[in-house]
Amino acid sequence: MKFPLHITLDNMRHQIKNGLQGNRRYPFVLMLEPLYTCNLACMGCSIERHTGKLKDRLPLETCLKAVDDCGAPGVSLCGGEPMLYPELKELIAGIIERKRHIYLCTNGLRLQDKMFGVIDPHKRLTLNIHLDGMRETHDKVCNREGVFDHAIEMIREGKRLGYHMMTNTTVFKETQVSEVKELCDLTSSLGVDGMLISPGYEYESVQQAMFLSRRETHNKFKEIISFAGDYRLSSTPMFLEFAAGLREYSCSPWSTVTFTPNGWKGPCYLIGEKLTHDWNEFWNDTNWEYWESRQDDRCQNCAMHSGFEASVVADARKNPRDLIRLAAWNFSG
Ligand code: SF4
Ligand code: SF4
Repeated sequence: MKFPLHITLDNMRHQIKNGLQGNRRYPFVLMLEPLYTCNLACMGCSIERHTGKLKDRLPLETCLKAVDDCGAPGVSLCGGEPMLYPELKELIAGIIERKRHIYLCTNGLRLQDKMFGVIDPHKRLTLNIHLDGMRETHDKVCNREGVFDHAIEMIREGKRLGYHMMTNTTVFKETQVSEVKELCDLTSSLGVDGMLISPGYEYESVQQAMFLSRRETHNKFKEIISFAGDYRLSSTPMFLEFAAGLREYSCSPWSTVTFTPNGWKGPCYLIGEKLTHDWNEFWNDTNWEYWESRQDDRCQNCAMHSGFEASVVADARKNPRDLIRLAAWNFSG
């Protein structure tokens, strides 16, 4: 299976519960950013995400309240670098106690001393290692030599110790698709449990020429589709077809809500039109209909998986062929 059975069942329960309550919009994943401190300064990362001071991090109780308020079954712990969050052990324990699934996104540099031997493997904990290419490319993106080799070593060690390990790769303008395939071959040989490949996020706060235009995204993902079935990619086939320009979807920004040291960020991970610490204000005051339509200029090149995977699921419910395809994809290898 692409996702372990308990994750699939929890997601189905969440959808059925919301369906019975007549909710059309509800969060699937909370992007929880407890801190904006990082030990790297990667190209393509929005500047506020790696320049924050540790003292400005979210208190543990505030993080757990966000988990309760939004009710999403998945929590993507990102930042900043979550390994630098001093209360990480308690945060993970609190999220697991609430029966949520954690995807901990990390550059891998501190896994050895902050995770392995400190926080036990758990079926609700997935370590998601950032890898934007093979050695030369990844170290260039991370602005530091040796990050790639360390990340590979940590994936190997994590698998040996029994952690659920995934990788997360962003495709930029300069990314050669042949290199993405090489990376898939390497991580497969390490036995990773999933690989997420998505087009570069064009943060409103980052004006760089490294992001893909819509046409470039389509071309690169058309190539990626040709070998996607050979690997344990976590992106659905329909999302990959959308990224390749072979399908159209409206956005579902409400499916992945973002909580940061500055509060709930609306409408999405990329655009912070409004920030508030009040969940109800964020949820009720965001003009979801407008953002679903993708009419805003800032949405034009966006094919961010967190905006569109929920659209894939919602659309498949109306299309039995897609629904069968989605189920077959999840239950395959
Ligand atoms: S490791 Fe993550 S948070 Fe840190 S600079 Fe790189 S992309 Fe940004
Ligand atoms: S398309 Fe959706 S996810 Fe992308 S920038 Fe617009 S609202 Fe955000």
